[in-house]
Amino acid sequence: MVQKLRIAIQKSGRLYDDSVKLLSECGIDLRNVRERLRTESDDFPLEVFFLRDDDIPQYVEDGVADIGIVGENVLYEKNRQAEVVEELGFGKCRLSIAILRNQHYDGIRTLKGKRIATSYPFLVASYLKQHNVEADIHEISGSVEIAPGIGLADVVADLVSSGSTLFMNGLKEVETILQSQAVLIKNKDLSKEQLDLLDKLLFRIKAVKKAKRNKYVLLNAPNEKLGEIIALLPGMKSPSVLPLAETGWSSVHSVLSEDEFWEKIEQLKAAGAQGILVVPIEKMVV
Ligand code: ATP
Ligand code: MG
Repeated sequence: MVQKLRIAIQKSGRLYDDSVKLLSECGIDLRNVRERLRTESDDFPLEVFFLRDDDIPQYVEDGVADIGIVGENVLYEKNRQAEVVEELGFGKCRLSIAILRNQHYDGIRTLKGKRIATSYPFLVASYLKQHNVEADIHEISGSVEIAPGIGLADVVADLVSSGSTLFMNGLKEVETILQSQAVLIKNKDLSKEQLDLLDKLLFRIKAVKKAKRNKYVLLNAPNEKLGEIIALLPGMKSPSVLPLAETGWSSVHSVLSEDEFWEKIEQLKAAGAQGILVVPIEKMVV
């Protein structure tokens, strides 16, 4: 029998689209994705289980799935034995403590004896313990942000991305417990064959991630400025330089990382570059 790698991803919700997209960018398109129960791919020996995100750490720990995609918030809350193999760069959010906007906050000791509503009792309790604060944690499974408004709790600990949900409910963020993003996790006891397949998948994921962080840049430069312009462009090894049909001009091709992108473009323009084209890169293998 051909060995397959079994991956657990969220059945529906905030991580679903990005998880399927990541696999697709890795050249792995899923069959019958609409049913969202269990499917396979024709492109890679992968079997996919669609689950509630809360269950993914346990399925991976138990070896029902070999790997999984889940938020760090859920992984650490469930406190399961699964190893993080790669940060995936999507599903970014933070687990924060928030109080009513009109309440005074004077550091974490303000939370002493308060009722805190949350879906993350383990992480909240660990955070409070670490800061030697005793409070009453009240676990609820959803709509945590309305708890203070209806008198259920004085304080909430919930996931925040833009902060607009907190704002709309008259709350303000006072502590950050955890910064989170989606991660790829693996079972601790994978076989040699499974690890080889995971390595193949990881190779593709890294190429996709790297491509997203970089742009392909083409520009025209007067030959007398080439030295200055090339010094600004690292490229994968070094930039390619091709002569233009017009004498005295060259076309320069290179790769720029997102972090330094705008700064470099300004410097290139100032150095005499013209007709700068910026093109997305699909995969990048270095
Ligand atoms: P499920 O039905 O699978 O249990 P869920 O309702 O628990 O889904 P979602 O709201 O779909 O979960 O969120 C899934 C994950 O998306 C979160 O655990 C978190 O890692 C991430 N996430 C990113 N931004 C946010 C946000 N603003 N609010 C909530 N989750 C976010
Ligand atoms: Mg959930």
